[in-house]
Amino acid sequence: MDTTAFYVAGEAAHGDGEVTVTHPYDGRPVGRTTWATPAQVEAAVAAAAEVAGRAAALPAHVRATALDHVSRRLAERREEIAALITAENGKPLKWARLEADRAVSVFRWAAEEARRFTGDLQRLDTDTGGVGRLALVKRVPRGPVLGISPFNFPLNLVAHKIAPAIAVGAPIVLKPAPATPLTALLLGELLAETELPAGLFSVLPIPNDRAAALVADPRLPIVSFTGSGPVGAQIRRSAPEKHVTLELGGNAAVLLCGDYDSDADLSWAAQRVATFGTYQAGQSCIAVQRVYVHAGLTGFLPRLLDAVSALRTGDPQDPAVEVGPMISEDAAKRVEEWVDEAVAAGATVAVGGKRDGATYPPTVLTGVPAGAKVITEEIFGPVLVVAEVADDAAGFAAINDSAYGLQAGIFTHSIQTAFAAHRDLQVGGVIVGDVPSYRADQMPYGGVKGSGVGREGVASAMDDYTEPRVMVLTGI
Ligand code: NAD
Repeated sequence: MDTTAFYVAGEAAHGDGEVTVTHPYDGRPVGRTTWATPAQVEAAVAAAAEVAGRAAALPAHVRATALDHVSRRLAERREEIAALITAENGKPLKWARLEADRAVSVFRWAAEEARRFTGDLQRLDTDTGGVGRLALVKRVPRGPVLGISPFNFPLNLVAHKIAPAIAVGAPIVLKPAPATPLTALLLGELLAETELPAGLFSVLPIPNDRAAALVADPRLPIVSFTGSGPVGAQIRRSAPEKHVTLELGGNAAVLLCGDYDSDADLSWAAQRVATFGTYQAGQSCIAVQRVYVHAGLTGFLPRLLDAVSALRTGDPQDPAVEVGPMISEDAAKRVEEWVDEAVAAGATVAVGGKRDGATYPPTVLTGVPAGAKVITEEIFGPVLVVAEVADDAAGFAAINDSAYGLQAGIFTHSIQTAFAAHRDLQVGGVIVGDVPSYRADQMPYGGVKGSGVGREGVASAMDDYTEPRVMVLTGI
């Protein structure tokens, strides 16, 4: 098995200590890389700092051409990339293909945005003192970016950090998740094919206990982190003077409103909730977790149980499999523990509930008492908690009764209810007529409360990586 290189200031390199990446389904080795040494990390950061001025001045056509190249190459190598995502992350092939396709469009969007990202003109003659003046507001990179990404979208969440950085001309040092570095390294290989200046990007496998030094390094004034709440909070505490964006977890909810009552409505909602409560074995920050159902909709639960029971679990390489393993047996054991705890407190397992190694089956719980972890914490596993609510207002209150607020899904036909949800729900996004798990990569994406600070999405991240610099023209 070859040892996959990582990228220090755009150059392929090997470090020390072997990192063997294993398949979450059966534990077989699927690839190998090495850890970046402290000297290589230093070289990457020094190069990022050194190139920052030149990178900010790179013509838009150079940045856009590089981004277009990566988008095209990702599309050409789609099948190989999807297979690699499945091998290191364990998500079924169809979800891995979707992730590869999304990364293609993230780079394409970034190329388009790079071509039009300009700034603003503001008139100042709104007061007597501003007559004859005009403000030109240009956005300039804040400086080199440290990107830290999680295991659950090993390609697309890396794309969301790197593509906007290149689009604005900000150098980036990217640290992928230790369980899933190989896809990020393949992306590094495609970036290395471009004409981007050395130092603009580095992709470095770094053990967690060495990452703190990077977070503290003043030469990387922006930290863009996607991952769990506790690590995000620690990063924020240890870098209070930096511009930190945190994309954290959630316990996303859906509400089925009373008007969503036809057979077709109930079947659609049940199918969507079943699929998006369990996709990627529930390991998505916007996987459905809490399901609030108007008390009159008695036809929903039987349909949901049918749909969940029909999901096929197993080897994610098998095209018929819809739910694969979790990232590790420990992760599946944690889900098992939380479900057992809820059952001990009075909950009923309506379907599922028996772990097999790293695979936790699609599970539906009812009668879960308030305060159980499966409701209040991010389960990050294929578990749905279903509860009745008396009306829309009670449903909105239940959704807001959470330490998190990433996205919510509202099944309704009423435009008034849709606007009320958009107004009253404490989340970063409301999806009307579908589950909260919908994300288009150009949309602003992020959460409130414990779900994070700031927004990703190509244009939002470009704003985030830059700051306005004003020039006032006088006498015009
Ligand atoms: P994690 O927090 O364990 O790890 C995320 C990254 O942080 C990894 O690269 C890890 O190596 C690194 N890390 C860990 N300790 C660190 C430290 N002390 N200093 C610096 N870096 C450190 O998260 P995970 O298990 O990989 O991912 C799952 C979590 O990510 C879930 O909570 C999920 O909801 C969240 N997530 C959020 C979004 C979003 O956009 N809001 C998207 C995907 C995943």
